Amino acid sequence: MDIVLYPDPRLRRKTAPIENFDQELADIVRAMFEVMYRTKGVGLAAPQVGLSLKLLVYNPEGDPAKSEQERVLANPRILRRSRNKEFGEEGCLSFPGIFGQVERPLEVTVEAQDLNGEKHQLELKDWDARIFLHELDHLDGILFVDRFQPGDKVRVKPQLTDLEAQFRASRASS
Ligand SMILES: [Zn+2]
Repeated sequence: MDIVLYPDPRLRRKTAPIENFDQELADIVRAMFEVMYRTKGVGLAAPQVGLSLKLLVYNPEGDPAKSEQERVLANPRILRRSRNKEFGEEGCLSFPGIFGQVERPLEVTVEAQDLNGEKHQLELKDWDARIFLHELDHLDGILFVDRFQPGDKVRVKPQLTDLEAQFRASRASS
């Protein structure tokens, strides 16, 4: 399992709901956490490993030694979002070296299924809410650079152009 990099079209694809809560799903989730820790991330959505599924994982500490912080959300949806929003810096494993300010609600109430298919409601705040909302966007084919302010969009344009050139080169050689 490897990270899918921008501008791979798999990052824009529509995702399908998880229907089978089986060992295969548990194996996918474990592999996603391993890739996330290896690449020093705090969150990962299934499209980022080439799977068009409504599945995301995160660990706000990004530390495999703190596995009690691991969160697995299948078929997540937002029930409520706070009107209060805040800008914060975000990066993305599919955009190596690119960072920018993104405005997100400070609190969200979420419904999602766990690995056994059981539904849970979660109240997420601050950093947890930001990670979740970033990963949830991936399930809708929305990328964090889409939400950048005009100044950040201009600033990262050369880096995006580089990633696009690398992607074309990797396509041409494979
Ligand atoms: Zn991302």
